[in-house]
Amino acid sequence: MVEARDVRKRFGHNEVLKGIDLTVNRGEVSCIIGPSGSGKSTFLRCINQLEQIDGGYILVDGAPIGVKLQGGRVRRSSRAEAAKSREQIGMVFQRFNLFPHLTALQNITVAPRAVLGLGAGEANARAIDLLKRVGLGGRERLYPGQLSGGQQQRVAIARALAMQPSLMLFDEPTSALDPELVGEVLDTMKQLAQSGMTMIVVTHEIGFAREVADRVLFMDEGVVMEQGAPEQVLGAPSNPRTQEFLAKVL
Ligand code: ATP
Ligand code: MG
Repeated sequence: MVEARDVRKRFGHNEVLKGIDLTVNRGEVSCIIGPSGSGKSTFLRCINQLEQIDGGYILVDGAPIGVKLQGGRVRRSSRAEAAKSREQIGMVFQRFNLFPHLTALQNITVAPRAVLGLGAGEANARAIDLLKRVGLGGRERLYPGQLSGGQQQRVAIARALAMQPSLMLFDEPTSALDPELVGEVLDTMKQLAQSGMTMIVVTHEIGFAREVADRVLFMDEGVVMEQGAPEQVLGAPSNPRTQEFLAKVL
């Protein structure tokens, strides 16, 4: 489903990703942990083509991200091609980024109507269904300002799902939330994982990673220092940097 090989990304002279490898099979959940500045968000942004990579390649569903093979030559994909392949990828950020002047329902229906061309009836039906799925049935008409942080984040998840993505990326989706609201968002993500969604989750929630992840990656300074099953990486890490990091966050 996702195959990243030797992915490299520089900002000026700062090489932020120094050859990242990751394989995520369909229906699997990979969790990425690691200290601040290690390149976790940058890697997700590369998968979602919010950044262009400088080396290596990323395949999503067998299709190269950001580049295209044409007559045996590799060239950068156009904006339109990038937008097309981004459609199958949903992303949820630390900040919910909901439109404050739109209701929960409208936030969810904007993209399916504008991008997929769904009619109001179908888009609304899909949104009502998704709000139920994230535990917010009946809250369609509320504005973001009338919802708690946890509820807003669940609307953001529903909004991403409305585009029927085949891959969901989460970048520290609970780290801006009050502690008592973290659980409801993690529960929603857990349900999504159980429904068979392919997910890559950057998180500091070690308990979630241990319970839900098929694979855990520890990133440090633009390198995947260690990856494997959660029991191994979180339970018996072999790399001293992983041990040091876990001692701090646990
Ligand atoms: P955090 O846990 O704090 O979110 P992170 O692992 O997500 O950290 P990134 O946000 O990917 O780290 O940043 C990795 C490095 O890349 C940092 O040194 C950061 O300053 C740099 N960086 C990220 N985005 C840009 C950009 N647009 N321009 C220049 N440098 C950037
Ligand atoms: Mg980050």
